[in-house]
Amino acid sequence: MSTARRTHRAVYLLGPRRTELRTVTAPRPGGGELLVRIEAAATCGTDLKVWQRGGHPRMLQVPGPFGHEMAGTIVELGQPSNGWAEGDRVVIANSAPCGECKACRSGRENLCADLSYLNGAYGEYLLVPRRFSERSTYAVPPGLDPTMAAMAEPLACVLHGIDVCRLAGDETVAVIGGGPIGLMFAAVLGPRGHDVALIDPNASRLEAARRLGAVEAFEAARDHRDAERLSGIFSGLGPELVIEATGNPRAWETALASVAPGGQVLLFGGCAPGTTAACDTHKLHYSEITVRGAYHHTPAAMQNAIAFLAAGTPDLSILLNAVYPLERVPEALAAMEARTILKATIRPEPH
Ligand SMILES: [Zn+2]
Ligand SMILES: [Zn+2]
Repeated sequence: MSTARRTHRAVYLLGPRRTELRTVTAPRPGGGELLVRIEAAATCGTDLKVWQRGGHPRMLQVPGPFGHEMAGTIVELGQPSNGWAEGDRVVIANSAPCGECKACRSGRENLCADLSYLNGAYGEYLLVPRRFSERSTYAVPPGLDPTMAAMAEPLACVLHGIDVCRLAGDETVAVIGGGPIGLMFAAVLGPRGHDVALIDPNASRLEAARRLGAVEAFEAARDHRDAERLSGIFSGLGPELVIEATGNPRAWETALASVAPGGQVLLFGGCAPGTTAACDTHKLHYSEITVRGAYHHTPAAMQNAIAFLAAGTPDLSILLNAVYPLERVPEALAAMEARTILKATIRPEPH
């Protein structure tokens, strides 16, 4: 181990639409900590929201390191090493549960009373705290490319969302929103035998939805017509499960209005604080509608996501349609905002 510390570049979020590429010294890992060289990071819809809003009440306080979907290689580690070794290829989840609270003990670590978050995927190196090396670091299976492995986190959120729905297996599904998350829902549920329809205002996303396994994909009008159209699909029966994947309260209303009697609604997209959505109380009660929220992921979902990515089917690489270096992270987010790309790989070039 050299005594001169590595300096490296890392993107910091300073406020709404303000980032800075800083040169910082990589800390020496202490007991249980890992120093990971980031091989690939991925941009995320959450990053876009956090960039637009200038932080996140739970996940990222500014100024702070930015980016949370990542895969890399361990280059240094402190003792005890928690079973890790230099050269191990890993994915680090962006949160680590305490492992002790009631939520953690019941397998709902995403609701941990003391969940820690980790940012800094948009950098050349990342210091992984002890709690993360113990509970939130996963080996990358041989053959899984780091650009794909970096998508484990959003896919884990999707798998967790599916898990909370406790599906029988033959439900018809409508997904509102064809961003990377909505498309991942289609990609997982379609091959499992569900008929999936997806709506989004953007035509290129409809094409991606069809390629990933949606039986139907059509343009969203973003008004009352969406609920009318959705409730008429699947031979006029309407979808038995509606997944809202936009984080927009109007889309929550569309989801609640279009679900079939006896069906369920998964409210997946996180809306801005203080927003509200209206619902038809009569329908909720008399049609026995189940409404669920799903937030974040659990360690079990992370493991499932990595296994899913390693299996390679369906091929989620069509979600990653651009590669940017660290200094162009704001451009990558602007391209996501303009809907010209779905998701970008950020590839740091260590110097
Ligand atoms: Zn993410
Ligand atoms: Zn906990």
